[in-house]
Amino acid sequence: MKFQCCKCSKITEDVSSFTCSCGNLLEAKQDLSALKVSRKDFEKRSPSLGVWRFREMVHPLAGKIITRGEGNTHLYDSDKVSIYVGASVRLKHEGENPTGSFKDRGMSVGVTEAVRVGAKTVVCASTGNTSASLASYASLASLNCVVLIPEGKIAFGKLSQAIAYGAKVLQVKGNFDQSLELVQKLALENNYYVLNSVNPWRLEGQKTIVWETLLQLQEEPDWIVVPGGNLGNVSAFGKALMEWKELGWLENVPRLAVVQAEGSNPLYQTWKKNSTKLIRVEKPETIGTAIRIGNPVNWVKALKYLKATNGVVEQVSDAEMMDAKAVVDSAGIGCEPSSAASVAGAKKLVDAGTIGKNQKIVCVLTGHLLKDPDATVNYHLGKLPYAGAFRNAPVQVEASLESVEEALAAR
Ligand SMILES: *Cc1c(COP(=O)(O)O)cnc(C)c1O
Ligand SMILES: [Zn+2]
Repeated sequence: MKFQCCKCSKITEDVSSFTCSCGNLLEAKQDLSALKVSRKDFEKRSPSLGVWRFREMVHPLAGKIITRGEGNTHLYDSDKVSIYVGASVRLKHEGENPTGSFKDRGMSVGVTEAVRVGAKTVVCASTGNTSASLASYASLASLNCVVLIPEGKIAFGKLSQAIAYGAKVLQVKGNFDQSLELVQKLALENNYYVLNSVNPWRLEGQKTIVWETLLQLQEEPDWIVVPGGNLGNVSAFGKALMEWKELGWLENVPRLAVVQAEGSNPLYQTWKKNSTKLIRVEKPETIGTAIRIGNPVNWVKALKYLKATNGVVEQVSDAEMMDAKAVVDSAGIGCEPSSAASVAGAKKLVDAGTIGKNQKIVCVLTGHLLKDPDATVNYHLGKLPYAGAFRNAPVQVEASLESVEEALAAR
């Protein structure tokens, strides 16, 4: 397998540090000219194969596959959400993966690779979902698992998963960016296998979100909108589109829109100012803890693919994110706060005229509603610093029919 630098394009087979000699990250270079399958072949395979339906373009060398049946998630149609956004929206629900986020797609491929190279211990830094996913897949593969999480900044659902699946959980007195730096040092000293999105195999698995969506829709959407934290996912989406474009399998290349939280918006600032250096955010803040990242490792890749797909970057406030989440939730679909950045961002882009009212949008919901019940309940109880346009607070009643009926009549 060959790897290519995302910046200087140099090709290498040494992927031990995941970085090129120029300091930028490597990407897996799929040999498309040697591909023996067609888009039709992929289409004919059962969707229940999920990530591994696309095996030849994800990990052609995979031996024993570590899988929990990730992928094959629903693509929902919701009038409620479309009306809110102001254009036709489909929701690709990655919260339906085995551990409740899209991270499982990349982790299935990454842990399969860890096993292939004979790793004993896998490690990651995580805002939550990466650790939940890695802990599960490591346990499946009988590998030791170490996760570093920023103390006090992780949603409870995610922390409970990492602990329960049996990972060694270290709560770092610092933020995500500091935790990731520690992981890289720790791995180097102890020969641990790193499964953050610096690992190119993770992104190979995440490409399948886009391919699966395209096969579900049978036509290309005009836009694919995704929340951005460490920017691995949007990079994977771009790579997926470029590979199918190169093969001549796309009629139109959908435009990518990546949405960040206002308080954690390094890519937004960098893109707006057309800066060649990343404008970091030293103290990232947002209720969307999965995208609370100030120094995203995949920013060079992300900008490359935004350019290649004529993409855009948007930012949303926490209030906008939580209102959009309330709409997605009340449609009966539901997602975690960070995920709703895609819907909030799509609405802003439609309002601004960047996305046309007649265009077709796919918003990716990255994680499950139950990941962060605190955020949801606090929103509806009015305990967040903003009003909340769609509150649905529970009502206290006496244990009498009269009191119950009075409360129902007052609705
Ligand atoms: C990891 C994650 C993100 C951010 O994805 P990146 O690839 O880091 O940009 C967004 N939402 C959820 C729910 C996540 O778990
Ligand atoms: Zn390079």
